[in-house]
Amino acid sequence: MAKKLSKVDAVIVGSGWAGGIIAAELAKKGYKVVGLERGENKKPEDYIGTKDELRFSRRYEMMQDLTKETITSRKRDSETALPVRTNENALLGTDTGGAGVHWNGVNFRFLPYDFEIYSKTVERYGEGKIPKDMTLQDWGITYNDLEKYYDQYEKMAGISGEKNPIGPERSDDYPNPPMKDSPAIRLFKEATKKLGYHPYHIPSANVSKTYENPDGQTINACMYCAFCETYGCDFGAKSDPLVTVLPTAKKTGNYELRNGANVTRVLHDGKRATGLLYTDNTTGIEYAQPADIVVLAGFIFTNTRLLLLSEIGTPYNPKSGKGIIGKNFTGHFNNINYLGARGFFDEKKFNNFAGAGAFGATIDDFSGDNIDHSQLKFLHGFEVQIQTTGNRPIATNFVPSGTPSWGKEFKDKSLHYTNRNLYVNALAGTLPWKNNYMDLDPTYKDFLGNPLLRVTYKYTDQDKNLIKYAIGKCEEIMKEMGADKVEPDTVPDDIDFNSSYTTGHFGGGVIMGEDPDTSAVNNYSQMWDMDNLFVVGASSFPHFPNYNPTETVGALAYRAAEGIDNYLSNGGGLLVNRQNKRKNA
Ligand SMILES: Cc1cc2nc3c(=O)[nH]c(=O)nc-3n(C[C@H](O)[C@H](O)[C@H](O)COP(=O)(O)OP(=O)(O)OC[C@H]3O[C@@H](n4cnc5c(N)ncnc54)[C@H](O)[C@@H]3O)c2cc1C
Ligand code: SF4
Repeated sequence: MAKKLSKVDAVIVGSGWAGGIIAAELAKKGYKVVGLERGENKKPEDYIGTKDELRFSRRYEMMQDLTKETITSRKRDSETALPVRTNENALLGTDTGGAGVHWNGVNFRFLPYDFEIYSKTVERYGEGKIPKDMTLQDWGITYNDLEKYYDQYEKMAGISGEKNPIGPERSDDYPNPPMKDSPAIRLFKEATKKLGYHPYHIPSANVSKTYENPDGQTINACMYCAFCETYGCDFGAKSDPLVTVLPTAKKTGNYELRNGANVTRVLHDGKRATGLLYTDNTTGIEYAQPADIVVLAGFIFTNTRLLLLSEIGTPYNPKSGKGIIGKNFTGHFNNINYLGARGFFDEKKFNNFAGAGAFGATIDDFSGDNIDHSQLKFLHGFEVQIQTTGNRPIATNFVPSGTPSWGKEFKDKSLHYTNRNLYVNALAGTLPWKNNYMDLDPTYKDFLGNPLLRVTYKYTDQDKNLIKYAIGKCEEIMKEMGADKVEPDTVPDDIDFNSSYTTGHFGGGVIMGEDPDTSAVNNYSQMWDMDNLFVVGASSFPHFPNYNPTETVGALAYRAAEGIDNYLSNGGGLLVNRQNKRKNA
């Protein structure tokens, strides 16, 4: 029997960007909030002096322990899914701040096209352009609706950037100037301009100058130390929940974060969520935390799994296409969505050991629907970027193909090219399919005996055609940059899903929309079926645009927090009217 605790206004699963933003906004308004975080208690000081490649790039010290809990993965219904047990194949956040602490800090807004993708695709190309099993749908919100929350997120996180010359309208500039130029960034910008494209600096949460955000939190200036991805920042210079929203929530006195608290169920009476059930990882004792509002912000796998385990909403059935929880799993995968061309320079040298997670430049000329797809065998698009995160000596060693993998020639070329190679890559969008989904695994369980979440996913011709086209553009740009040897990535025709979940960019399972028949949450991330339950994060993305997700996760979290405040102030109820309008394939 779980020990019942005193009721609070809101209880939140997770302390990452999504959970942290909701916590800060509700606590500032005076609500009593409890956060439940399965990982350890961490502070910015815990990351001082931790630039240790073996600990963080090889032993993945900041990642979820996959021996205790993971996902299972397979390519098709006829296969038995297997658990993903190695961090080389799954980078999932844990500990205070979640994946937001070890992220790179690349920040993009999605395009207006993305939010109305079904309507705009039909309008431009006709319904026949959408393949039969592609489950494309509008998000039930427009870019203009979300713009003020994007702005709020950028100011909180101190995003450093310059205007995208062909980007959507903005109500304000970025709060900080862009990161510095570098020879590599200059070369990319010159080459893309010559080709007629529109380069700009990647908007960055590695903050370009010391900045105090509207909540009074200070984020320091980035040192370009090149240890961002899979590391915490020991300068307090990477905007993350530890230096922004979590201290903001705590200083109100209204937020309590409980670490080592593994949430296993949403408690409910069929109509309303009544709280969360969790197990203390240290003692094994089970607790029930009652609350008026329950927020799931535990990343897409936990959000989807908790709804399925708690029997809330209708599980998605890929055969009938009915049901919603688990539908439209999408993501960015390294061997199909993140590819490009590497250039080797005989003479030109770059300082590849300096860098930052979001230090680079990009073009949006091929993003979303910015090109005409009438004659192309795919929908959606890709951004092309040069991202100089820094070559760490153990993790990277690029030599031209044909170089022996050992011996004198290998050593000579490794030394020669270490500062004479650059990579230009595309990040391609991923569209949803009827047979790409999540459900509960019938075989494997976690350390507490609860079924794991199972992912069924397959690449399609859409993915292959899109990335092949994108690689061609990266190759064109790398040639224009003057590389002596250009090596484009290759995509075999029979390439198959490799069950490697390393990008942290995954979406779906609890998707948003304006029709309760085809979405689980409305545009306040509020469950249609249970109005005091909010599910926040990329789990609500109906497809995965060609950008990194977190700025949109943040903007949706700000909107959800506003919705929760409206809900609590006005006596509850759905925040959006149900509309049974068909805006999906
Ligand atoms: C290596 C890497 C680099 C990345 N770089 C970028 C980037 O440059 N730009 C970008 O936009 N995105 C990036 N991402 C993605 C980004 O990290 C995520 O979009 C973002 O952190 C998601 O925030 P979240 O709050 O939804 O989830 P998370 O940050 O994952 O937070 C969820 C929290 O919930 C906790 N939790 C989960 N389940 C339970 C449970 N059952 N009980 C209790 N607690 C639970 C977890 O421990 C975690 O702390 C990157 C991801 C990775 C892995
Ligand atoms: S590159 Fe900048 S933001 Fe990243 S860890 Fe180093 S100092 Fe921090």
